Amino acid sequence: MITNTTRRFLTILITGIFTIWFDRRYRKYTFIPLLILLIGFILPQNMIQPVKGASTSDWDINSFWAYPWGNSVTHKGIDIFQIKGTDVVSSTHGWVVYTYEGGKGGKSVMILGPKWRFHYYAHLDEIKATPFVPVKRGAVIGTVGDTGNAKGKPPHLHYAITSPFPYVNRYDKEAIHGWKKMFYLNPDTWLR
Ligand SMILES: [Zn+2]
Repeated sequence: MITNTTRRFLTILITGIFTIWFDRRYRKYTFIPLLILLIGFILPQNMIQPVKGASTSDWDINSFWAYPWGNSVTHKGIDIFQIKGTDVVSSTHGWVVYTYEGGKGGKSVMILGPKWRFHYYAHLDEIKATPFVPVKRGAVIGTVGDTGNAKGKPPHLHYAITSPFPYVNRYDKEAIHGWKKMFYLNPDTWLR
């Protein structure tokens, strides 16, 4: 839908449910993926701050949805500034979906956390996570850096949270890209 990750997630989910449903032998098991979905939504998030030693003064409360923001138009996360090499930890329990090197995010890690929310950690100096491996809240997944389009800027963690399911109540008529606010959640909400 809104990102490659959330689009893929929905594709897998929907094809999975329909594949089971359309096979008469397995139709009675359709509740299993739906139950897993439900459990995911119930899991508590209990988020912690993802940069070791950082405090609320290390990011700008107004940086979420800041506009104009270069190619991205609006800034769909927060930037947590800290010395290069500082540990970046997973803010929730979760599953490493992928690690990537290149593009705007530079070295980045994507983690699927509770409530089917995807946590994106970008501009890392070093990646310390392995794809498809579960991580605990607080586990080191990388270090703060300036990779990708943060090159030449003060080192920081770009932290963004996306949901494949729209939070319709967050639709913002006034803002640029306001409809995307249904899919991009403001990490600041849970970090103070
Ligand atoms: Zn950023």
